[in-house]
Amino acid sequence: MSKYPNAINSLIAYLRKFPGVGSKTAERHAFQLLDWPDTQLQDFAKLLSNFKETIHPCPSCGCLLENALCAFCDPSKRDISSLCIIASPKDVYPIEETRVYKGLYHVIGGLLSPLDGKTPEDLHIGKLKERILKNEIRDVIIALDSTIEGDATALYLKEEMEDWGARVTRPAMGMPMGSSLDYIDGGTLARALIGRQNF
Ligand SMILES: [Zn+2]
Repeated sequence: MSKYPNAINSLIAYLRKFPGVGSKTAERHAFQLLDWPDTQLQDFAKLLSNFKETIHPCPSCGCLLENALCAFCDPSKRDISSLCIIASPKDVYPIEETRVYKGLYHVIGGLLSPLDGKTPEDLHIGKLKERILKNEIRDVIIALDSTIEGDATALYLKEEMEDWGARVTRPAMGMPMGSSLDYIDGGTLARALIGRQNF
C-alpha cells in the first residue's frame, strides 16, 4: 500500500477495521474523503473525537444514554414486571422498533465464548439477579442471537435463573439458526417476540 501518501495509507488502515470493508472499499472511501469540503471533514473529526464522551451506559440497564434519564428504565412508560436480556446496547433498537415489547432491558455485554475469553464472570450475573429479585420481575425474555454462543449463553442464564421466581422465555419461531438480532427484519422479530416460548 506504499503507493499512496502516508496519510491516505493510515486512513485506509482505519477504514479496514470496519466489518465487511476490504482494501478496495477502504481505498475508495479514503479518496472520497479527500473530496469532502473542509468544514464537513472538520465536523466529522470533531464528532469522532467527542463520540464516546456524549454517550454513556445507563448504570441500571446498560443501554446507551445521552441525557441523565434513561427512557428504557422510566417506570411511567415501561412495564416494570418484564425484563429483556440482550447482549449489546445496540440490540435494544430492533426490539423497540417492533413495538411489541414494553418492558425493561438488561445488557449483559456479550456472549459466552471460551475462544474469545468471555466467561460467565463477564456477564455479571450478580447484578442481573439483584435487579430481578429486587424489582420482582415476573417475566424474563432472553433475546440473544440464534448462534452457538447465543444458545450457550441462554442456557447458562436459564440455569442460573432457575430459582429466581421469574418465567423465562426466548423469542420463538422465525429466528433462523445463526441469525443475529440486527439482521432479522422487524416483522419476523415481532412474531418471534409475540410467540416466545418457555425455555
Ligand atoms: Zn436504563
